[in-house]
Amino acid sequence: MHAGDDTTPAARLQMLHTEYLQPGRGPQNERVTTSTTPAAPLRLAVYDHIKAAVDEATAHTRTVAPGAEPRPTELASLYEWVVASTAHLDTARQQARDALIYRQGLEHAILMGDTAVIRRHPCPACSTWSLFWRTERRQAICVNRHCTDGDGTSWSWTLAQIAHDHIARGLATVSRAT
Ligand SMILES: [Zn+2]
Repeated sequence: MHAGDDTTPAARLQMLHTEYLQPGRGPQNERVTTSTTPAAPLRLAVYDHIKAAVDEATAHTRTVAPGAEPRPTELASLYEWVVASTAHLDTARQQARDALIYRQGLEHAILMGDTAVIRRHPCPACSTWSLFWRTERRQAICVNRHCTDGDGTSWSWTLAQIAHDHIARGLATVSRAT
Protein backbone atom coordinates (compact mmCIF):
# COMPACT_ATOMS: atom_id res chain seq x y z
CA MET A 1 0.00 0.00 0.00
CA HIS A 2 1.09 3.55 -0.71
CA ALA A 3 3.61 2.09 -3.18
CA GLY A 4 5.59 4.90 -4.71
CA ASP A 5 4.50 7.43 -2.11
CA ASP A 6 7.71 8.47 -0.40
CA THR A 7 6.03 10.89 2.01
CA THR A 8 4.36 8.32 4.27
CA PRO A 9 5.89 7.86 7.72
CA ALA A 10 6.79 4.27 6.77
CA ALA A 11 8.49 5.32 3.53
CA ARG A 12 10.46 8.02 5.32
CA LEU A 13 11.56 5.63 8.04
CA GLN A 14 12.72 3.18 5.39
CA MET A 15 14.47 5.96 3.49
CA LEU A 16 16.37 7.02 6.60
CA HIS A 17 17.58 3.46 6.96
CA THR A 18 18.56 2.81 3.36
CA GLU A 19 19.92 6.22 2.37
CA TYR A 20 21.33 7.65 5.57
CA LEU A 21 22.24 4.69 7.72
CA GLN A 22 23.55 2.40 4.98
CA PRO A 23 24.59 4.79 2.19
CA GLY A 24 25.13 3.02 -1.09
CA ARG A 25 23.23 -0.09 -0.12
CA GLY A 26 19.69 1.14 -0.71
CA PRO A 27 17.65 0.92 -3.88
CA GLN A 28 18.18 4.62 -4.50
CA ASN A 29 21.96 4.51 -4.13
CA GLU A 30 22.46 6.30 -7.44
CA ARG A 31 21.49 9.46 -5.61
CA VAL A 32 24.15 8.97 -2.94
CA THR A 33 27.45 10.04 -4.38
CA THR A 34 30.72 9.89 -2.47
CA SER A 35 30.61 13.60 -1.75
CA THR A 36 27.17 13.38 -0.14
CA THR A 37 27.67 10.16 1.78
CA PRO A 38 26.64 11.05 5.32
CA ALA A 39 29.46 11.42 7.79
CA ALA A 40 29.75 9.17 10.81
CA PRO A 41 28.14 11.61 13.28
CA LEU A 42 25.04 11.90 11.09
CA ARG A 43 24.83 8.13 10.72
CA LEU A 44 25.00 7.78 14.49
CA ALA A 45 22.26 10.38 14.92
CA VAL A 46 20.11 8.57 12.36
CA TYR A 47 20.72 5.25 14.09
CA ASP A 48 19.66 6.70 17.45
CA HIS A 49 16.65 8.37 15.82
CA ILE A 50 15.43 5.15 14.18
CA LYS A 51 15.92 3.16 17.37
CA ALA A 52 14.05 5.77 19.43
CA ALA A 53 11.19 5.82 16.92
CA VAL A 54 10.87 2.02 16.86
CA ASP A 55 11.09 1.83 20.65
CA GLU A 56 8.46 4.51 21.13
CA ALA A 57 6.03 2.99 18.60
CA THR A 58 6.53 -0.45 20.12
CA ALA A 59 6.10 0.70 23.72
CA HIS A 60 2.98 2.67 22.79
CA THR A 61 1.47 -0.34 20.99
CA ARG A 62 2.23 -2.78 23.78
CA THR A 63 0.78 -0.40 26.39
CA VAL A 64 -2.58 0.08 24.65
CA ALA A 65 -2.71 -3.43 23.08
CA PRO A 66 -0.93 -5.88 25.40
CA GLY A 67 -2.06 -8.81 23.23
CA ALA A 68 -0.37 -7.50 20.09
CA GLU A 69 1.43 -9.93 17.81
CA PRO A 70 5.24 -9.80 17.90
CA ARG A 71 6.65 -6.78 16.13
CA PRO A 72 7.79 -7.53 12.56
CA THR A 73 11.53 -7.31 12.02
CA GLU A 74 11.03 -5.38 8.76
CA LEU A 75 11.31 -1.66 9.45
CA ALA A 76 8.92 -0.94 6.58
CA SER A 77 6.18 -2.92 8.34
CA LEU A 78 6.47 -1.17 11.71
CA TYR A 79 3.56 1.25 11.33
CA GLU A 80 1.33 -1.34 9.64
CA TRP A 81 1.88 -3.50 12.71
CA VAL A 82 1.07 -0.60 15.04
CA VAL A 83 -2.18 0.12 13.18
CA ALA A 84 -3.22 -3.54 12.88
CA SER A 85 -2.51 -4.15 16.56
CA THR A 86 -4.62 -1.20 17.69
CA ALA A 87 -7.46 -1.31 15.13
CA HIS A 88 -9.90 -2.58 17.78
CA LEU A 89 -9.42 0.42 20.09
CA ASP A 90 -11.80 3.33 20.49
CA THR A 91 -11.65 6.40 18.26
CA ALA A 92 -9.72 8.54 20.75
CA ARG A 93 -6.97 5.98 21.11
CA GLN A 94 -6.79 5.37 17.36
CA GLN A 95 -6.52 9.12 16.92
CA ALA A 96 -3.66 9.27 19.42
CA ARG A 97 -1.96 6.43 17.54
CA ASP A 98 -2.38 8.16 14.19
CA ALA A 99 -0.96 11.36 15.66
CA LEU A 100 2.05 9.47 17.02
CA ILE A 101 2.76 7.88 13.64
CA TYR A 102 2.22 11.16 11.82
CA ARG A 103 4.50 13.01 14.24
CA GLN A 104 7.22 10.42 13.71
CA GLY A 105 6.85 10.94 9.96
CA LEU A 106 7.44 14.67 10.47
CA GLU A 107 10.47 13.90 12.63
CA HIS A 108 11.88 11.61 9.92
CA ALA A 109 11.41 14.32 7.27
CA ILE A 110 13.06 17.02 9.39
CA LEU A 111 16.02 14.77 10.19
CA MET A 112 16.48 14.37 6.42
CA GLY A 113 16.50 18.16 6.09
CA ASP A 114 12.97 18.49 4.71
CA THR A 115 11.84 21.24 7.08
CA ALA A 116 9.48 22.56 4.39
CA VAL A 117 7.17 19.71 5.41
CA ILE A 118 5.99 22.04 8.18
CA ARG A 119 4.70 24.61 5.69
CA ARG A 120 2.19 22.11 4.34
CA HIS A 121 0.26 22.40 7.63
CA PRO A 122 -2.02 25.26 8.65
CA CYS A 123 -1.34 26.96 11.97
CA PRO A 124 -3.46 25.21 14.63
CA ALA A 125 -4.46 28.61 16.04
CA CYS A 126 -5.18 30.82 13.00
CA SER A 127 -5.47 28.16 10.24
CA THR A 128 -3.30 30.15 7.82
CA TRP A 129 -0.26 28.74 6.03
CA SER A 130 2.15 30.69 8.19
CA LEU A 131 4.21 28.04 9.95
CA PHE A 132 7.99 27.99 9.71
CA TRP A 133 10.32 25.52 11.35
CA ARG A 134 12.87 26.81 13.83
CA THR A 135 15.60 24.23 14.07
CA GLU A 136 17.21 25.63 17.20
CA ARG A 137 13.91 25.54 19.12
CA ARG A 138 12.67 22.35 17.49
CA GLN A 139 9.33 24.09 17.13
CA ALA A 140 7.28 25.70 14.37
CA ILE A 141 6.56 29.41 14.66
CA CYS A 142 3.48 31.09 13.20
CA VAL A 143 4.62 34.24 11.37
CA ASN A 144 1.11 35.61 10.86
CA ARG A 145 1.43 38.88 12.79
CA HIS A 146 -2.23 38.71 13.81
CA CYS A 147 -1.66 35.30 15.37
CA THR A 148 -0.25 35.94 18.83
CA ASP A 149 -1.11 35.06 22.38
CA GLY A 150 -2.33 37.69 24.87
CA ASP A 151 1.20 39.03 25.36
CA GLY A 152 1.83 39.57 21.66
CA THR A 153 4.14 36.58 21.41
CA SER A 154 3.97 34.48 18.25
CA TRP A 155 2.50 31.04 18.69
CA SER A 156 4.94 28.19 18.56
CA TRP A 157 4.05 24.56 18.07
CA THR A 158 5.75 21.27 18.73
CA LEU A 159 5.63 18.50 16.15
CA ALA A 160 3.30 16.60 18.48
CA GLN A 161 0.85 19.53 18.48
CA ILE A 162 1.01 19.87 14.69
CA ALA A 163 0.46 16.13 14.25
CA HIS A 164 -2.47 16.11 16.66
CA ASP A 165 -4.04 19.06 14.83
CA HIS A 166 -3.47 17.38 11.45
CA ILE A 167 -5.21 14.18 12.55
CA ALA A 168 -8.06 16.07 14.22
CA ARG A 169 -8.68 18.14 11.06
CA GLY A 170 -8.77 14.95 9.00
CA LEU A 171 -11.39 13.44 11.29
CA ALA A 172 -13.44 16.63 11.15
CA THR A 173 -13.39 16.47 7.34
CA VAL A 174 -14.54 12.85 7.40
CA SER A 175 -17.40 13.53 9.82
CA ARG A 176 -18.56 16.55 7.81
CA ALA A 177 -18.71 14.38 4.70
CA THR A 178 -20.99 11.79 6.31
ZN1 LIG B 1 -1.13 31.19 13.46
